[in-house]
Amino acid sequence: MSVFKVGSRVYLANAALRQSAGIGTVLHVISTDGGPNDFVYDVKFASARRTLRGSELIPVRTGRVSASFSCEEKTSLWIAHQKALNASMKALTTLADSAGTVAKVEFEFLKKRVDYLEQRVEMARQRLDEHVAKHRC
Ligand SMILES: [Zn+2]
Repeated sequence: MSVFKVGSRVYLANAALRQSAGIGTVLHVISTDGGPNDFVYDVKFASARRTLRGSELIPVRTGRVSASFSCEEKTSLWIAHQKALNASMKALTTLADSAGTVAKVEFEFLKKRVDYLEQRVEMARQRLDEHVAKHRC
């Protein structure tokens, strides 16, 4: 079973639900009585926040901002997407860390920033998808 950290990007292990839930981000790691490697995770998905066991999640591999496809435009779109994803992950980690420790105004500001950055990830992903669909690369 994988162990995740705050800020980890995850998919649902359940293939039928994976597509509709999309990528989630671990907001909290909660230990249980089940042993040192038994955790439940508070995960934020675009549609909802859910509490899930590690066995219900699989990791999304991110963090690499370099890539090399034979198509130059695809490569630059991919890098733009990875950069946007990393920026939103960082902002989300900051938000998760600040919960309960900063003033409400500041928390709202951080939340808006996360929303904004997640929109940019979505836009970058759409541009990449559109290019791949059109260019078949
Ligand atoms: Zn292309």
